[in-house]
Amino acid sequence: MAIQHFPLKLVSRRMLAPAVGHYVFVRDDGQPLDFIPGQFIQVHFHYADGTATKRSYSLATIHDHAMAPGEEVEIAVSYVPGGAATALFEGLEAGGIIDASGPFGRFCLA
Ligand SMILES: Cc1cc2nc3c(=O)[nH]c(=O)nc-3n(C[C@H](O)[C@H](O)[C@H](O)COP(=O)(O)OP(=O)(O)OC[C@H]3O[C@@H](n4cnc5c(N)ncnc54)[C@H](O)[C@@H]3O)c2cc1C
Repeated sequence: MAIQHFPLKLVSRRMLAPAVGHYVFVRDDGQPLDFIPGQFIQVHFHYADGTATKRSYSLATIHDHAMAPGEEVEIAVSYVPGGAATALFEGLEAGGIIDASGPFGRFCLA
């Protein structure tokens, strides 16, 4: 499973708890986002001064097949007061695009 860089489009979001958001995305370049449950993506963005940064988020979608193009993936974001990525996610509306890469994380199935 090669690590790739891709745009993710927000399909929907809802609150799971007062400070935890559930976000549903679809890969916006027509390619599948295949992953092993437990792997994570990185979200790339910039601080206000233009410095590039990134944060990691675990892929929460349960699946038992190779992901096809257009299939939705989910993450849960715990909001951190004053957090840079928290602000990004809080301001993201349906149809909004974020820059992501992955999947990351390797598991040993013994
Ligand atoms: C492999 C991996 C997977 C992850 N998966 C998830 C996930 O599925 N969902 C998720 O919500 N986050 C996950 N994280 C954490 C996520 O990457 C960010 O660190 C988190 O969202 C905070 O980013 P931020 O930019 O909003 O806050 P920042 O701007 O990085 O932090 C703002 C301030 O809050 C402090 N802070 C940061 N995080 C916490 C915390 N958890 N508790 C208390 N203080 C904190 C910082 O020290 C700083 O002072 C994961 C991290 C890793 C390494």
